[in-house]
Amino acid sequence: MIELPEAILLARQMNQELHGKQIAICERGNSPHKFAFYNHTPEEYARTLAGRTIGTALEHGGCILLRTEPDYQLVLGGGGERILLHQGGSARPAKVQFLLEFSDSTSLTVTVQMWGNLQLMTDAEVLADQHLGPRRVSPISADFTPEYFDYLFSALDKADPRSLKYFLISQPGVWGLGNGYLQDILYRARLHPRHKATSLSKHERRALHKAIRDTLQQAVDQGGRDTEYDLHNRPGSYHRILDASSVGMPCRRCGTPIQKASFLGGMVYFCPHCQT
Ligand SMILES: [Zn+2]
Repeated sequence: MIELPEAILLARQMNQELHGKQIAICERGNSPHKFAFYNHTPEEYARTLAGRTIGTALEHGGCILLRTEPDYQLVLGGGGERILLHQGGSARPAKVQFLLEFSDSTSLTVTVQMWGNLQLMTDAEVLADQHLGPRRVSPISADFTPEYFDYLFSALDKADPRSLKYFLISQPGVWGLGNGYLQDILYRARLHPRHKATSLSKHERRALHKAIRDTLQQAVDQGGRDTEYDLHNRPGSYHRILDASSVGMPCRRCGTPIQKASFLGGMVYFCPHCQT
């Protein structure tokens, strides 16, 4: 699943490799997918996008906003998409959920695994969208200070029952963070996913803040997770500390076997001894 580091890297690559290309043909896709989220008919995509020029790409949390000049943004990412750039004459996936052919005979395809965004929006629609909305503070920016992180906690009532997992990836959520990086962040901060957000000490909040920044920055520096791919179908080199393959393996800190549990609509992986 594309999260903030992958969205940053894909947007960066799009700016290097797609910027200025002219769209010759847009096809909404040749293979239906139940969880490919479109917001226009195939005809509207084709008519709106043909002849437009690709502008800048910008990460928007776990999504990517790819501008098609002058007034529309393609909203990609936020799910399990594979977004690939193809040179003219090279093989493309047989089944795709989205296709742009450019006038220089290169093309961009999107295939959706699990779910994915393939929406075409005006700037105003992006701002008004409940899942997108205005930009928020990026956890790897200088504005994501310990004080800003404290401010997120300060909005919670003392009796608020939400867990750290819910707090970090749902409400209020850290911009662009999902279940993929959550496990390593909580492991580094020595905190359990079910730990109540309101019960963190200042020291624990600081450790969590540092773990968020360190983990996501390291992921950007290493080209994203090794299970995610760039525009040229190359995987990243960030190896997760905790994932499905860690279950039953010894914790690197204390040797206790790593456990998994189903929690809030997804698996969590943790050390039952050193994550409290
Ligand atoms: Zn441990």
